[in-house]
Amino acid sequence: MEKIDFLIPVNGLVSGKTSYRWTVGKEFFEEFENPDIIDASVEVEAVAEKSGHYIGVDCHISGSVTVSCDRCLGRLAIPVDTTGRLSVKFGSGDDGTETSAEEDGREIVLLSGSDADLDMRQIIYDYTCLSLPMQRVHAEGECDPEVTRYLGGSRQAGEAGGEETPFSVLKDMFRN
Ligand SMILES: [Zn+2]
Repeated sequence: MEKIDFLIPVNGLVSGKTSYRWTVGKEFFEEFENPDIIDASVEVEAVAEKSGHYIGVDCHISGSVTVSCDRCLGRLAIPVDTTGRLSVKFGSGDDGTETSAEEDGREIVLLSGSDADLDMRQIIYDYTCLSLPMQRVHAEGECDPEVTRYLGGSRQAGEAGGEETPFSVLKDMFRN
């Protein structure tokens, strides 16, 4: 299988826009040893723009990643649709330029003068992970019923106590 390189050859860019397209799968996240992501199917579209000394990269990351549901531990596919806007700079910032992490809404990526390529792997990984919600649970009623049957009792007694009224308890009794 051909290894995808995820590199943008910033030193060799011609003026104007150059487009790149990569597909990110499960193996990509395995390389980062992230145990949360158990499957992935993500498309990355990057457009590098060179104009004089300016090099900007816009990347659009879309698709879905699969994680474990926090409640039932079943597979949960989460849609990913996020955009990264980068500005590539060379040097270590010792020439008097500001070292702010952002400029015009773009994240600054600092490369040393000898770097010929911008490796997009870490950027794709970071943006994808940052776009995932903190709470990773199935929509109500979509959890694995085999698991939630056991969880149901304790959950009702605990956090969901506010919803419990004498009436709802009666209703539950009659349902069974
Ligand atoms: Zn679930």
